[in-house]
Amino acid sequence: MKHIVSIGAITAAAVLSSCNSTTEQMEAPAHGGDDFQWQVDRFADVKVLRYQIPSWDDLKPQQRIYAYHLTQAGLAGRDIMWDCNYRHNLEIRKALETIISSDVDKASPEYADFEVYAKRVFFANGIHHHYSNVKFAANFDQEWFDATLADLGVTLSEEAHRAIFDPEFDAKKVNRADGVDLLLASAVNFYAPDVTQAEAEAFYAAKEDADPERPVSHGLNSRLSRDTDGNLYEEVFSAQGRYANSIKEIIGHLKQAQAVAENEGQAKALGLLIEYYQTGDLSKWDDYNIAWVSTTGGDVDYINGFVEVYNDPMGYRGSYETVVQVKDFDASERMAVVADNVQWFEDQSPIQAEHKKENVVGVSYKIVTVAGEAGDASPATPIGVNLPNANWIRVEHGSKSVSLGNIEDAYHQSAGKGMAKEFGFSSMHNERAEKYGELGSKMHTALHEVVGHASGKINPGVGTPKQTLKNYSSTLEEARADLVALYFILDDKMQEIGLMENKEPGYAEYDNYISNGMMLQLRRILPGDDIEEDHMRNRQLVAGWAYERGAAENVIERKVIEGKTYFVINDYDKLRGYFGELLREIQRIKSEGDFEAGRKLVETYGVEVDQELHAEVLRRSEPLNLAPYSGFVNPEMVPVIEGDSIIDVKVDYPMDFLGQMLRYGSNYSFE
Ligand code: ZN
Repeated sequence: MKHIVSIGAITAAAVLSSCNSTTEQMEAPAHGGDDFQWQVDRFADVKVLRYQIPSWDDLKPQQRIYAYHLTQAGLAGRDIMWDCNYRHNLEIRKALETIISSDVDKASPEYADFEVYAKRVFFANGIHHHYSNVKFAANFDQEWFDATLADLGVTLSEEAHRAIFDPEFDAKKVNRADGVDLLLASAVNFYAPDVTQAEAEAFYAAKEDADPERPVSHGLNSRLSRDTDGNLYEEVFSAQGRYANSIKEIIGHLKQAQAVAENEGQAKALGLLIEYYQTGDLSKWDDYNIAWVSTTGGDVDYINGFVEVYNDPMGYRGSYETVVQVKDFDASERMAVVADNVQWFEDQSPIQAEHKKENVVGVSYKIVTVAGEAGDASPATPIGVNLPNANWIRVEHGSKSVSLGNIEDAYHQSAGKGMAKEFGFSSMHNERAEKYGELGSKMHTALHEVVGHASGKINPGVGTPKQTLKNYSSTLEEARADLVALYFILDDKMQEIGLMENKEPGYAEYDNYISNGMMLQLRRILPGDDIEEDHMRNRQLVAGWAYERGAAENVIERKVIEGKTYFVINDYDKLRGYFGELLREIQRIKSEGDFEAGRKLVETYGVEVDQELHAEVLRRSEPLNLAPYSGFVNPEMVPVIEGDSIIDVKVDYPMDFLGQMLRYGSNYSFE
């Protein structure tokens, strides 16, 4: 599971609660405290930042070389992400690259419009918005575009051309609306265009597992395609299958990484990952994950593979991603105390006794420094990741949970205070957010990741949440983890174990969560749209349910002052009790696989938008000129070569988003 930054937190400090928080930074100076320029680009609804790798110099040369090869492996799979997102993405990207690299007049207004579109496409790894999934409008001159391509001798297929300019055609990458055929309504390229949801469901219902208690992640590394007789089959992503060219490159870099691994555990895990890429065998993927999750020694770690399933409307197929990380020793030490107490949290949880784990296994939580990202994790990045995703591996072998510390820092460093001023209810709230918001959001992230996702168990005989709760499983899982965090952040235990001196960070986090869930996050969607994204649905569900639950007693009060709406918490303890109640119910839904109850919760509270409030949020935030989304230019690693071998690796911090995109396009294009 991944956690991303959301929009809407009230202050700069309260910017990053778990599974989303905010980043409001546009009006801030583009420089951090130490002259490092954090922000390097701004277009449409996006700003592009940079991050630093402060611990890079503390590593030994061999560790830097290890991180280098892992990073290269990640970049080698970049095209896979583009192609999985949409079947015409690579063709379109190459056309965009050709125009940008040519000597076409860059001072013309036509080019300026075109460049914004191109940047949006690069940022999203394709022509659909990375977050809303809606196709980008082609707000540039089509005649100019066609003539320029013709001049440059580039031909675009008719369908790719239509994909750019016909707004109705393949309009949405992932469409999870209630009642639609999830596959026919989604343009994502994990399924052949004419495969229906019912066909795919039947295909996977017929799959049997050698060990039903330990099912492989069916469909994770393939495209569901149709042969000439009309039968469905999986085109497996492997060195012998789909994306073989990229995957062979990935394997090459992984082998080089394996040769310089920090310890035997790492080398063994990499060996299994290589076997998995060579064969596409999903049981190897499980073997690899068990080896990977058990390897906690070493300073450098990574995520690599077809991992998160958010881009598949049916939740089977993983998007290619890599994150390469260096351990942040001091920060990890502080947070280890959460992991040390994870059984205590489980025992005290408000969920039903029969849904509790007697033995919460091996949650490892680290604050890490990102050294490089690729695929699904770049340019837009998660701020926290908890893997592996297979439930039975998590239960039997534990999971690794990381917070991407330098990414969070970059958000904070580049954040401004405009949102706080506009949406904070009082100076007391604003001051508290400024003083305690950052700590509150960090605590939320830690609790969400370490305690939340690890908590609870499924009743015997009940299928995985993906099978039972279907398209609602991700939303409900994020809600469950958020509720665990919200419930415990106001527990005395947090002070007892020395994580908080008082409850102020918890109150700040409650304020942030409620105003974000009730209104601020709406800034991310267009007027008239429903909420689609899982994390956004989760937040509105939790906040909206609690608001309604406490309505009789005014626990959360909706105040309108001079035409401005605020949601103000009057009773934090009562609200905490409601969070406990909802947690208990959502855990029950997961444990019993109660699809109807889950669907009802999400559809009632998480999907529909209060149109008036939405308009108000847009109106009030517009003058702040904030970018709702951010992402990052990656540092670029430069090997130091002596003779035939790499003896060390240096890091550059490029300033040019488009430049990096073009370099990636020319250096890592294998499909
Ligand atoms: Zn989560």
